[in-house]
Amino acid sequence: MRRNNLKPLLITLGVILSLMACVPPRTPTPTEATPTPRLVEATPTPQIRLFRQPPTPPARTQAQVLRVIDGDTIEVSIGGKTYKVRYIGIDTPETKHPEKPVEWMGAEAAAKNEELVGGRIVGLEKDVSETDRYGRLLRYVWIGDSMVNAELVRLGFAQVSTYPPDVKYQDLFLRLQKEAREAQRGLWGPTPTAIVQPTPTPQPAGAEPVVYITKTGEKYHRDGCRYLSESKIAITCAEAIRRGYTPCGVCKPECP
Ligand SMILES: [Zn+2]
Repeated sequence: MRRNNLKPLLITLGVILSLMACVPPRTPTPTEATPTPRLVEATPTPQIRLFRQPPTPPARTQAQVLRVIDGDTIEVSIGGKTYKVRYIGIDTPETKHPEKPVEWMGAEAAAKNEELVGGRIVGLEKDVSETDRYGRLLRYVWIGDSMVNAELVRLGFAQVSTYPPDVKYQDLFLRLQKEAREAQRGLWGPTPTAIVQPTPTPQPAGAEPVVYITKTGEKYHRDGCRYLSESKIAITCAEAIRRGYTPCGVCKPECP
């Protein structure tokens, strides 16, 4: 009895299963042939090619970079105290001197320095001197096992400038400078010729030529010179010269 009852059920099951086998599988629309394009291998982010360290790593102090002042000066925090650090053995073009114009490649050198050390933890290595005459720490600045002083020279953003007795890496710096010069990198490349001058203020005919001085400076300027942003005192050329003021190198005022 039971057996007989089961039989139709088994048949029905069999029919259902074979029907299912006949139904074409619901494959997704066959756009198959196009293989998913392989992702283009991302070009590896260019590693900062800093100069590798010598075999024996010198003792270094860890410091947090607070601010990049220019191409060869930074402000750091060591154990909660703030210090200015001047890179040993190199000079980058001037950008911050109050009476000097921004030199060729100065801004670029500062930007490169920012790119290399900005906001990072650096290792500071002392040579012989502790500080320079401005009280700044004299140091070689390391990022991991690469030295920033050397890298700035190699890329043509800094010139070698040796102040004995701090000469530990002098030979290396000179070698890298030669390489940069030969490759005409940065400073060693062609110098731009067009330098924009402030437009001169026309003087009324017959009037005494007037220039401008500042409260603290020793230079006289044309109207519109950027060094006049703090203070601006009109003075005749004759008076400026009599008082010992000299012409500004940026705006190049003309006095007879
Ligand atoms: Zn000026």
